[in-house]
Amino acid sequence: MTVGPRSQALFEQACRVIPGGVSSPVRAFRAVGGTPPFITSASGVHVTDADGRTYLDFIGSWGPLALGHAHPEVVAAITEAAARGTTYGLPCPGEVELASTIAELSPVVEQVRFVSSGTEAVMSAVRLARGVTGRDKVVKFAGCYHGHADHLLVQAGSGLATLGVPSSAGVPAAFAGETLVLPLDDEDAATGLFDEHGASIAAVLIEPIPANHGLLLQRPAFLEHLRALTRSSGALLIFDEVISGFRVAPGGAAERYAITPDLVTYGKVVGGGMPVGAFGGPRATMRHLAPEGAVYQAGTLSGNPVAMAAGATALRILRRENAWERLEALGARLEAAATPLLAPHGVRLVRVGSVFWLDFGTGEPTRRPDRIAADAADRFRGLFNRLLDDGILLAPSAYEVGFLSLAHTEEHVDRLAAGWGKALA
Ligand SMILES: *Cc1c(COP(=O)(O)O)cnc(C)c1O
Repeated sequence: MTVGPRSQALFEQACRVIPGGVSSPVRAFRAVGGTPPFITSASGVHVTDADGRTYLDFIGSWGPLALGHAHPEVVAAITEAAARGTTYGLPCPGEVELASTIAELSPVVEQVRFVSSGTEAVMSAVRLARGVTGRDKVVKFAGCYHGHADHLLVQAGSGLATLGVPSSAGVPAAFAGETLVLPLDDEDAATGLFDEHGASIAAVLIEPIPANHGLLLQRPAFLEHLRALTRSSGALLIFDEVISGFRVAPGGAAERYAITPDLVTYGKVVGGGMPVGAFGGPRATMRHLAPEGAVYQAGTLSGNPVAMAAGATALRILRRENAWERLEALGARLEAAATPLLAPHGVRLVRVGSVFWLDFGTGEPTRRPDRIAADAADRFRGLFNRLLDDGILLAPSAYEVGFLSLAHTEEHVDRLAAGWGKALA
């Protein structure tokens, strides 16, 4: 793909003053061999770049935009809030409104603490779990992403439970050693790890709907097994719902699977497009946070009035518009339109509600990252660039999911399905 001359020039300038030219690595479009378009405006389902090219967007800012870009009511709420001051460093009513809404929607949350990103939410939830249990080890799953906190940037290459090996430079082995990595979809491995380390495990952390290395939908029985293991060993089960929260159901994956974790983390949709993260759970657990308890956690811009207004307004609209049913219907439409076009080429649409992913594998549903087709990245690159030439923007990696929003119509999802069909043919 070739972007226009303005994006090209901006990228060259950016590369001089920003590492790789981007503020978050995947935006560099390296996996699809290109230069990213520099976006100057967005509205509804469209983003427009510095060269005036408009794309039909399915990145959705990587998850936050359940209402689409620049929803007028969200923009109005942000504008009004900003005019009253952008930060106070003191409590504001918006925090109470958003926290109350979260507590109403979530089957897990009685109390919630706000932060400014998903990374911070998970980092803080893990600290709380360690503080509450007095234990140090945390279990995560290969292929699950939980933000970029040191001890969570760990992945195991094998399907066996192994002691963590850092997957980023700059993560001390001693930190990574406190993280135990398990394979998804494997009850026996989890049982084995708990037999050996159960007494030192503070928390099991999982994306109940793993959506950061493909969309690796888990069997409910596997999640139930983790619930049982943690309950009997005194570890906390943390659902990282930074993507799935307020996206796949009002109460996220916890509601969808009817499994109640001990703590839950939110980000993306909860901020209505502004930087917001949150973590919450029962009062009995959350009271261990400072100033009530001994687990310290803080933030200069946490509970920011402008961000709170955006999040509260977005959630209010989602509830009013019966969003979750509408997003499910739209996702089903995409699946119905795309499946007959993809199947002859050995490609499968994996979907939960408004979150979708193209699986280039054949045979069994893909539930673990090591089962993703080896040629997925190569096959995706061609597909991605053909769609881009057609003005359709997908996340620039075979391992990233796509998102629908309430701004998308049946016509938009049909156009995506047809685009895939044409590109594969
Ligand atoms: C995006 C994401 C995070 C990190 O959130 P940031 O806001 O990017 O820090 C954590 N967990 C999951 C599941 C995510 O998808």
